[in-house]
Amino acid sequence: MISTFDLFKIGIGPSSSHTVGPMVAARRFRETVLARGGAARISAEIYGSLAWTGRGHGTDVAILLGLLGHAPATIDPDLTTPLSDTLRRTGDLGIPGVHFEPERDLVFNFKDILPLHTNGMRFRAYDAGDALLEDQIFYSVGGGFVVTAAEAEAVSAGDTQTPPLPFGSGRELLDLTLRTGLTIPQIQLANELTLRSREAIDAGLDAIRDAMFACIERGLRMDGELPGGLRVRRRAKRLYESLEATKLANSRPAHEIMDWISLYALAVNEENASGGRVVTAPTNGAAGIVPAVLRYTRDFCPDWNDERGRDFLLTAAAIGGLIKARASISGAEVGCQGEVGSAAAMAAAGLTAALGGSAFQIENAAEIAMEHHLGMTCDPIAGLVQVPCIERNAFGANKAVVAASLSLRGDGEHRVSLDEVIETMRQTGHDMQAKYKETSLGGLAVNVAAC
Ligand code: SF4
Repeated sequence: MISTFDLFKIGIGPSSSHTVGPMVAARRFRETVLARGGAARISAEIYGSLAWTGRGHGTDVAILLGLLGHAPATIDPDLTTPLSDTLRRTGDLGIPGVHFEPERDLVFNFKDILPLHTNGMRFRAYDAGDALLEDQIFYSVGGGFVVTAAEAEAVSAGDTQTPPLPFGSGRELLDLTLRTGLTIPQIQLANELTLRSREAIDAGLDAIRDAMFACIERGLRMDGELPGGLRVRRRAKRLYESLEATKLANSRPAHEIMDWISLYALAVNEENASGGRVVTAPTNGAAGIVPAVLRYTRDFCPDWNDERGRDFLLTAAAIGGLIKARASISGAEVGCQGEVGSAAAMAAAGLTAALGGSAFQIENAAEIAMEHHLGMTCDPIAGLVQVPCIERNAFGANKAVVAASLSLRGDGEHRVSLDEVIETMRQTGHDMQAKYKETSLGGLAVNVAAC
């Protein structure tokens, strides 16, 4: 079972797989070393996509912060640079016996890829005689999820917890709704109740919603250039001011509503690109789509209340969990169709549920949104989660609303199933050339000058 709280994680930007995941892995390794009383030296080595795009994604800083014991959900985004700078100066991790020199002990391995996933990390600890004390491999498999090799094998062997209402496909989910009479958010909630109390679930969902909206609010206030040297200017603030200035005008184009949806997504992704506090949904690169559509639901659709917001998130998580289990939500595995496409499918499903759509309409909305992202590659310029990522979220959010609207105006009957489109996404990602999967070795990344 993939929990709603695994898919929606409060963390920091710019990348769930390349920032959040490595920080989590490094922190886990720190705890291992602390449990054995320390070491004389430790090293971290990153492979594949983490090495190729790691500097732009802040992977090195994330690993330093994780080794210092910080977690993505609690670290103050304004302290990431000062903390890592101090570590580079002092070498002090707070682990007995260890002096860590990032230039020597943090290695970008551009040649090799670890066997189970392109986002591999290897942490080692040595004693004073340079004998190996600990040797751990982690994989950051997308959306901030981190597994060891043994954990990855346990999942593929089916050695996982079974929820009371399990579903492994869109078809099974629809059958469950027919058999039990429950809605999709009610089914997801019943499964969540095996992990947490109802009060904890409601509070957790509300905290996710609040973190998403707070991210939008901060993004609307910030101005200036995004970090990284690409000289990309933030534009959410100016767009917001422009929309506010014409709010009471007599003649406004009907398509203005698309600007509001775009605005919310731009605000989140500009915050993400600057390393701010965001909610992984289901990844950081695609973190603007679910919040944008959720905010659109609150501000522009009738009958908003807390319960509708929770139904939105539970439904989006049910769909995101299916996509993760049956294909991937990782740009490094299947390209941007797996990040922005998945987020759009989740948001479309959530909006349809919040507006009272049936289970069949929800499945239809998710299918439409995913279908029209098929084939989309991942080619961020300079390895920064800025171009094309930020605008791409604005498009994904608008497509999600179109998908929900089309579905709600139908009866849920449709030709292509969600399962078929997820499988198509998986196969397309498998066939996609490696250079289009978060390596910055193809596409826009090689055709647009980075400076
Ligand atoms: S192009 Fe898409 S998949 Fe790649 S980093 Fe940007 S948002 Fe993520």
